[in-house]
Amino acid sequence: MDLTTLRAIFSGRLHTEPDTMAPFLTDWRGKWAGRAMAVAQPDSTADVSTVLQWCHDHRVPVVPQGGNTGLSGGATPDESGHALLLSLTRLNRVRGVDRMNNTIEVEAGVTLQQVQGQALEANRLFPLSLAAEGTCTIGGNLATNAGGVQVLRYGNARELCLGLEVVTAEGEVWNGLRGLRKDNTGYDLRDLFVGSEGTLGVITAAVLKLFPQPASQVAAFVAVPSPKAALELLQLAQECLAATLTAFELMSDVCIGLVEKHVPAARLPLSERSPWYVLLEVSGPEDESRSASAVEHLFEVAIERSLATDAALSTSLTRFNALWALREDISESQGAEGKTIKHDVSLPISRIADFLESTGAALAAAFPGLRLVVFGHLGDGNLHYNVSPATDRSSAEHIGAFEALEGPINRLVHDAVAAHGGSISAEHGLGVLRRDESARYKSPVEMKLMRSLKSALDPLNLMNPGKLLSEALEVSMHCSVSTDK
Ligand code: FAD
Repeated sequence: MDLTTLRAIFSGRLHTEPDTMAPFLTDWRGKWAGRAMAVAQPDSTADVSTVLQWCHDHRVPVVPQGGNTGLSGGATPDESGHALLLSLTRLNRVRGVDRMNNTIEVEAGVTLQQVQGQALEANRLFPLSLAAEGTCTIGGNLATNAGGVQVLRYGNARELCLGLEVVTAEGEVWNGLRGLRKDNTGYDLRDLFVGSEGTLGVITAAVLKLFPQPASQVAAFVAVPSPKAALELLQLAQECLAATLTAFELMSDVCIGLVEKHVPAARLPLSERSPWYVLLEVSGPEDESRSASAVEHLFEVAIERSLATDAALSTSLTRFNALWALREDISESQGAEGKTIKHDVSLPISRIADFLESTGAALAAAFPGLRLVVFGHLGDGNLHYNVSPATDRSSAEHIGAFEALEGPINRLVHDAVAAHGGSISAEHGLGVLRRDESARYKSPVEMKLMRSLKSALDPLNLMNPGKLLSEALEVSMHCSVSTDK
């Protein structure tokens, strides 16, 4: 492929040398790796448009990439070497904050942490928050419809986005940067691109919602006897604390044990262990002592009703951070412990206790001796339902046998999720990781509608092919589109 035209436009921002391209061609965990004909680093929407027009004219597939922190392999090209990797990190300007409208307009490559910081400077809150926030970009957050720890109160990335600027597969620029909370003028194109994982077009900028900065934040770490009690506590907390309830996270004692083992500073803040814990956060306009009193009142009622057995409240910022660290360090501790088979599932909140009981029993019967490492955003019905080998099975032979169980374990867990009316990807997207499994759980009608959208917006199947929808389906769809012409 002759890259002369692109090289002339992009000068030092088009790379073909293997060493320079290497970091873009594997995901951050090294789980997926691919090849590309070139890596382009546009620094304006016009640049993105130029690249996409060129790719369209030359029938070159495009893999958009933001911070490359995704967990489903969506930002890694395949091994053919035919695709162009489009890195958006140089589109990193904050275009403006509108304090009266409570909005911020940013380019796609601005990191989530930078957006939070800009909001804070304007005495506002941008509430999307997740552990990769220093590296992940707003474009990637929107393309994967990221969730995180405050969805219960503020919603996921989709709900925080009012408008988008997108470059289409043909290289045209759609300016949908509207800061409107109401706009009933036809199909919602913004919602099509949010969560589309780079398969419909490239997000180049967004208008995002801002909120007032809370006056206080209080966290509480609560011992609960069971997931059922945790769910009843969630209902009680919603009644007592109303909109000030910002986060409601569930974790098993196995999770906390892993954090204590792998993070030297970690301490259980309670005098006795419990099979399950909840970490809840309250934030709002009230001062800290009023918020703390409201949480203390909640505990009194919860203990009276046997929904909780003990609780520790944050009394300082250090304590607040230490309580949150117990939750946030679970993933890293699991990584340090060894191989895990992970599931990011969501369920109707009312079905979670049944799901946990029946799926735990089914796994124990089918695959004796496994450890369940279960935690998640209970307030959003989102569980990270992870499976590890037993502690005494760390030899290479045992790990090999465990890895061989990945397919059957995924099938058992995801079938159970589907039977309970849930989703097999709550917040990490499909990418290549869950692409084929997803087709199993969606109806033929849903799959047909999804393929129709893909073919309407990207008839040549150039936008991140093989992600979210399997390439075989897309190619055959493309062939039928061509024949019709
Ligand atoms: P990338 O990884 O670069 O890309 C992800 C997908 O989006 C790819 O399909 C890519 O093609 C597409 N894409 C990227 N930019 C664009 C663009 N501008 N236009 C079109 N498509 C684009 N996720 C959660 O939801 N909740 C969590 O709590 C959470 N915690 C995490 C914690 C850690 C430590 C890590 C590493 C990840 C976590 N994630 C979480 C995963 C999360 O999806 C990503 O961190 C983030 O949303 C992806 O942003 P990114 O810029 O890194 O995108």
